[in-house]
Amino acid sequence: FYIIVILITQVFFSLFCWWLLHRPRSLYLELERAIKNREFVPYAQPIVNATTKELVGIEILMRWEHPVQGLVRPDLFIPQAENSGLIIPMTHLILKETAKQLRLYKHSLPDPFHVGVNIAPQHCNSTVLSQECHSFIDEVSDGKIILVLELTEREALEVSDFTQRLFQQLKGLGCKIAIDDFGTGHSSLVNLQQIDLNYLKIDQIFVKNIGIDSTSEHLIETTVEMAKRLSLSLIAEGVETEAQAEYLQQQGVDFLQGFLFSKPIPLGDFLQNQALNVDIPVGK
Ligand code: C2E
Ligand code: MG
Ligand code: MG
Ligand code: MG
Repeated sequence: FYIIVILITQVFFSLFCWWLLHRPRSLYLELERAIKNREFVPYAQPIVNATTKELVGIEILMRWEHPVQGLVRPDLFIPQAENSGLIIPMTHLILKETAKQLRLYKHSLPDPFHVGVNIAPQHCNSTVLSQECHSFIDEVSDGKIILVLELTEREALEVSDFTQRLFQQLKGLGCKIAIDDFGTGHSSLVNLQQIDLNYLKIDQIFVKNIGIDSTSEHLIETTVEMAKRLSLSLIAEGVETEAQAEYLQQQGVDFLQGFLFSKPIPLGDFLQNQALNVDIPVGK
């Protein structure tokens, strides 16, 4: 009997040791390590004029170049990064790298050139954001590059006095403000207008349903009408087909973004293509 007890204890002990060695490290620790290693890199996706199809800017999308797992998509790590506050140093890396690369290639970019950056809710409650934007603008030191801060609808919901002052300051620096994923949250535009918006980005879920679901089309039409009244420009996200692009243009959407024009590619590649005047690769 004792021998059996000792054997079972030993088995459990070895299993415990194995787990200690091989347990998955928490995502938080992995993110901290990756920040130190500068594994977060900017990808760029073009935004075009809906009528002329000319390039008007890009959206910067974060990617994680993990040494073992390869390229990691943001939906797998952004939520944890936002909840833990690590999104702030991560955004710092992205803004620094983006400014550095834009500076090298600014001569080959159209004037004006809009650069959209996704901003987490934590950032909107912190003075760090205006410092970040200040150094970005200093670094690119070019009036034609316009920094567009993309806030998703849910986080712009509560506009505090602090946020309002912060955004006033940012507008003073020349930044523009976009509401991302518009139509998926519950905020009222009256509330959002307190921060003097420039753009609404129509969420891809509505674009996907063009020609399929009339409710999405009604929502797009109503959004366009409302945006025009408030003098806001509209960007449609997730445009994948010519039919969607044509519909959106006819409805009065100003700018388009999606796989129809280009998937997100490394910012450096995008800028090099621009410099060489090479067509943007199309595909998923
Ligand atoms: P988002 O800001 O709404 O970005 C648009 C997403 O749609 C991107 O996904 C983009 O790759 C994808 N997309 C673009 N065109 C198409 C299309 O034609 N079809 C389809 N199906 N998808 C398209 P991605 O890059 O995976 O990013 C997902 C989300 O992660 C972003 O949504 C944004 O909320 C967040 N994110 C990305 N980068 C950052 C960042 O630097 N900071 C923060 N806080 N969030 C970020
Ligand atoms: Mg965005
Ligand atoms: Mg979006
Ligand atoms: Mg989104």
